[in-house]
Amino acid sequence: MRKSIFTLGVVAILSLGLVFASAQQKPKLRVFISVDMEGIWGVVHADQTSPGTPEYGSARKWMAQDVNAAIQGAFFAGATEVVVNDSHGSMRNIDPGDLNPRATLITGTPKPLSMMQGIDASFQACFLIGYHAKAGTQDAILDHTISGSVVRYVKVNGVELPELGLNAAIAGYYGVPVVLVSGDTAVCRQAGEVLGQDVVTVAVKEAYGRTAAKLVPMIEARQKIEAGVKEALAKLSRAKPFKIAAPCTFELGYHLSAQADMGAMLLPNVKRVDARTLSFTADDYIEGFKTLRALISLAPAR
Ligand SMILES: [Zn+2]
Repeated sequence: MRKSIFTLGVVAILSLGLVFASAQQKPKLRVFISVDMEGIWGVVHADQTSPGTPEYGSARKWMAQDVNAAIQGAFFAGATEVVVNDSHGSMRNIDPGDLNPRATLITGTPKPLSMMQGIDASFQACFLIGYHAKAGTQDAILDHTISGSVVRYVKVNGVELPELGLNAAIAGYYGVPVVLVSGDTAVCRQAGEVLGQDVVTVAVKEAYGRTAAKLVPMIEARQKIEAGVKEALAKLSRAKPFKIAAPCTFELGYHLSAQADMGAMLLPNVKRVDARTLSFTADDYIEGFKTLRALISLAPAR
């Protein structure tokens, strides 16, 4: 009797240990989501993405719904934590009360890493939701790069990049792969070109120009985002971070010569390539990204 109690005790302790060990071994899956607004389902015009207009209230709800579809897919696929960074304009677009309550929200601006604030090497995957094509893209809703009134293009090491590439390189700097991009068909095409064809893309609209599009039916759009997230996380082990080799040479093409003046006058190590173009080289991508933002911030709007 004493022996069997002893045996039972040992078995119980061993099984508790196993349960505890398996709980401990459950792999962490931390997901980072940067959410912009121009590529959100329903959005086709800057009136919808600017606070103070009658249409903005609806657009910010659609923004929360697109990102909630991604969050739901992530938790379904085993995410242990989801952090969402509001990445458009004031960066206070998502009403915190509208976000899936299991997710963490980063809200407001300015932030050191801007659209990628909050990411670090502890994350395993990154999604870019509601993104848009780079400045100068035809048939793309509200195409621009960082600042529509200032930036004509940004090149890094000779390659012109949309925001999705500039931001994927921040994720890549920390070893985190961007595995899903949503927006219009144009940004989905550019995501494949920049990140490779393994990235999962979800088109929620197809543009007829800069300010008109055919929308995917609303329910279908959100289902596609959720399904895309599940697909992206299912093949996560094969995903590669998008890394830009250092040193990084940035080239910033402005719309106007006046916009290049202040940066050329005030910042050391910035070269004036021509009237409307500045360039500089950074030892580190993040350092270069911050200098790029400083140059854009110094420029007067058109
Ligand atoms: Zn935006």
